[in-house]
Amino acid sequence: MNYKTDVLVIGSGIAGLFAALKISEFAEVILITKKDKTESNTNYAQGGIASVIDSNDSFEKHIQDTLIAGAGLCHRDTVEMMVKEGPERIKDLINIGTKFTEINGKFDLVKEGGHSHSRILHAKDLTGQEIERALINSVNQRSNIILLENYTAIDFLTEHNLRKNKNLTIENKNCYGVYALNSQTNEVVKIQSKATLLASGGLGQVYLHTTNPKIATGDGFAMAYRAGVKIANMEFIQFHPTALFGSSSLPEFESRSFLISEAVRGFGGILRTKDGNAFMEKYDPRKELAPRDIVARAIDNELKKRGDEFIYLDITFKDKNEIIERFPNIYNTCLRLGIDITTEFIPVVPSAHYVCGGVMVDKNAQTSLNGLYACGEVTMTGVHGANRLASNSLLEAVVYSDRAAKSIKQFLEDKRVKLPEIPDWDDSGTLTQDERVLVTHTIKEVKHTMWDYVGIVRSNQRLQRAKTRIFYLYQENESLYKKTKIYNDILEARNLIACAYIIIKSAEMRKESRGLHYTIDYPNTDDNYLSDTIIQNRTY
Ligand SMILES: Cc1cc2nc3c(=O)[nH]c(=O)nc-3n(C[C@H](O)[C@H](O)[C@H](O)COP(=O)(O)OP(=O)(O)OC[C@H]3O[C@@H](n4cnc5c(N)ncnc54)[C@H](O)[C@@H]3O)c2cc1C
Repeated sequence: MNYKTDVLVIGSGIAGLFAALKISEFAEVILITKKDKTESNTNYAQGGIASVIDSNDSFEKHIQDTLIAGAGLCHRDTVEMMVKEGPERIKDLINIGTKFTEINGKFDLVKEGGHSHSRILHAKDLTGQEIERALINSVNQRSNIILLENYTAIDFLTEHNLRKNKNLTIENKNCYGVYALNSQTNEVVKIQSKATLLASGGLGQVYLHTTNPKIATGDGFAMAYRAGVKIANMEFIQFHPTALFGSSSLPEFESRSFLISEAVRGFGGILRTKDGNAFMEKYDPRKELAPRDIVARAIDNELKKRGDEFIYLDITFKDKNEIIERFPNIYNTCLRLGIDITTEFIPVVPSAHYVCGGVMVDKNAQTSLNGLYACGEVTMTGVHGANRLASNSLLEAVVYSDRAAKSIKQFLEDKRVKLPEIPDWDDSGTLTQDERVLVTHTIKEVKHTMWDYVGIVRSNQRLQRAKTRIFYLYQENESLYKKTKIYNDILEARNLIACAYIIIKSAEMRKESRGLHYTIDYPNTDDNYLSDTIIQNRTY
C-alpha cells in the first residue's frame, strides 16, 4: 500500500516525535519507525538534558562549556541559539507531561563532565525513557499523526526516480518522501510527502562495541550520502568512557553495551586501574570530570599499557541509599551481573556512543536537498564541533525539531508542492536470499574493521587498511543487493558500509588531531584545519 501525506517524519526518537507533535499543529503527518516505536537511542539516555534553569547559572557559561568541549569547531551562532532556546523547549517537554526528578519542589539539577554548573535535568537514570513515554503519549492523542511501526526507509524519492533527467545536481532536485520496507509483510511501499523530516538517529552499530541499540545502523547518513546531500564532520565519533564490561551476557544487551552514565562520575565516581589506583590526575586536572574524549583516551592508554580488558569505576565510598535512589537502573542491571555497586567496583570499557557529525543543516534544519529537513543525532548543526558536551544532544534535538517544524510550515505555505508521479518499487528479477548468513558476516566484518582500525586512536595506515576492506565489502554487498529481494539486514549492511566509508574518508581528510579525532600521524591540533570536513559527492 502506497501513501501520500503533507509531511513524512522518519524516526520515533526525541527528534522525530517532538517534531511530529509540532508539525501536527498545521499539517498531516506520517511518522515511520524501523521497529517498535520506543526503540531508539533516546529510550536509553540516562544522564539527562542540559539547560540553563538555575538562576546562578548563565547562558554564557553553558555556551562557553559547549565551545570548550567542541575544541574550536563549534559554530558559535548555533551554540548560542541552542542554549538560549533551550529553556523554552524544556517547558514544552514539561507541558506534555515529562516528569523530571525534583527535590523539595525544585528540579534536581546535576553536573556532568565538562559542565561548569549543575544544569542537567534528569528523571533518575531513565531520562530518555521518561521523555519518550511523554512524547509517545502525546503523539497517540493527535489524530492527524499516523505512526507506522516496522517501516524502514530505504532511499529518498527525488527527480532521479523519474528517470527522465539523468544529470541532476543537488540544486535542481527535491525530496518527495521515501521508498520504505514494511518488514512485517516484506513489501516495499512508496510514501510520498510534500516535505520530509529525517530524524533517524545515530550509527553506533558500525562499531563492535557500542552503547547504541540495534536500530542505530546509520540509515539516514547513508540515504543522504546516496542522494548527494551534504554531510560533515563524520570523523568525530564519541566513545563513551564507561560502558559496563561483560554486559553482553544479559540477553537484552546482546548487540549493545550497557552504559554507566556520565552522571556516576558527576556524582563523584573515581576511575581506577585493576590494582585499585586512581589515574585520571595524570591526564587532566579536571580528572574524572574532564570531557569524554580525554577520559576515553586516558582509559584506552591505561588499558593498552597494562594489557587489561577493563578498568574500574568506584562509587563504593558513597552512601548506599543515595546510590540506589539516584541510579536504580544501573544498580539493578549491575546486580543482575553479580556486581553490587554499593560495595564493589564496576568494570568498564569505552564504547562507541555518539556521532557529532552528520547531515548538514542550517539553523532552520534545512539540508542541502530541497524539501528535506533533518534534526537530532543524524545532523551536523555546528553545535557539537569536534566533541559533544554531555547532555547537549537531547537539547539539540528539541531545539532543532522545533525549528524544523517552523521552517516546514513556511515551506508548505511558500512552495505549494505538487507531488510528481514516481514509479513504484520495481524488484522484478530479484530472488529471495536463502543464504542470509552472508549478510550477517558482512555486518560483523564491518564492525570489527571499524573497531580495530577507526577507533579511539587512528593512523594513516589503519585508515587505509579499513578503506580497502570496506570497499571490498561494499562491492560484495552491492552485487548481492541488486539480485536480492529486500529485507532489513541487507539494507542495514548497505547502510553500515556507507557509514564506515564516510567516517574513514572524513578521518583521512582531517590531517590533525582535534577533539574526538586522534591520529598518531598528526598528533597535534593544527588551526590551518579549523574547518568542517564536508562530503557531498558520492565517490564509491
Ligand atoms: C545509552 C545512551 C545514553 C545516552 N544518554 C544521553 C544523555 O543522558 N543525554 C543526552 O543528551 N544524550 C544522551 N545520549 C544520546 C541521545 O540519546 C541521542 O543522541 C538522542 O536520543 C538521539 O535522538 P534522535 O531522535 O535523533 O534518534 P533516536 O532516538 O536514535 O531515534 C531514531 C529513530 O529513527 C528510527 N530509524 C532509524 N533508521 C530508520 C529507518 N531507516 N527507517 C525508519 N526509521 C528509522 C529508529 O527506529 C528510531 O525510532 C545517549 C545515547 C545512548 C545510546
